[in-house]
Amino acid sequence: MRYGMVMDLKKCVGCMACTVACKAENQTRPGIFWNIVKDQEFGEYPAVTRVFMPIICMHCKEAPCVKVCPTGASHKRADGIVKIDAEKCIGCKYCIEACPYGARYFSGDMDGYFGAELTAMEKIGYAKHRQGVVEKCTFCSGLLEQGKDPVCVRTCIGKARYFGDLDDPDSEVSRLIKARHGTQLLKELGTEPSVYYLPA
Ligand code: SF4
Ligand code: SF4
Repeated sequence: MRYGMVMDLKKCVGCMACTVACKAENQTRPGIFWNIVKDQEFGEYPAVTRVFMPIICMHCKEAPCVKVCPTGASHKRADGIVKIDAEKCIGCKYCIEACPYGARYFSGDMDGYFGAELTAMEKIGYAKHRQGVVEKCTFCSGLLEQGKDPVCVRTCIGKARYFGDLDDPDSEVSRLIKARHGTQLLKELGTEPSVYYLPA
């Protein structure tokens, strides 16, 4: 079993519902984004193409963040998910430097969206995060335990995101990658990301 995600760049409309859903589900602070959508333009007017590219932690098979972590806080689970044990993290930020995808954030500033005084929702949500440690996308591991897909997959209005087992050749993700020639970002680095992109 190796969890993975497939992003269909033909279907992503750049609405950023996934970014908002991720923030609501994971209650991340201002400036911390476990899921972003990049807006990229190609060509010259009038032959211009716009491509929206969702970026999350790639849950790399050969994760450089895990290799550099001095405490073992960053670790890889048997199901392929790369997680951070906040109790073991010392906030050295080596992993932020090592990640070539910019997927990690330092939880330093503890202010909320309206300043130091937190809203009722922020008080509850932010209590799940430790200060002075690094955090990132978990493939919504808590939802997976409840038998649910990650929130970005369930929220996507364009049905651009798919989630499943990359080790199963008959899974929807494996079949899509094969049929549509899915590619990984910065494949040449040898990180073997578990997130694939179907061409626009
Ligand atoms: Fe680690 Fe970055 Fe790969 Fe995620 S994308 S597993 S944080 S190196
Ligand atoms: Fe793209 Fe879906 Fe995110 Fe909208 S919700 S930006 S369609 S991935």
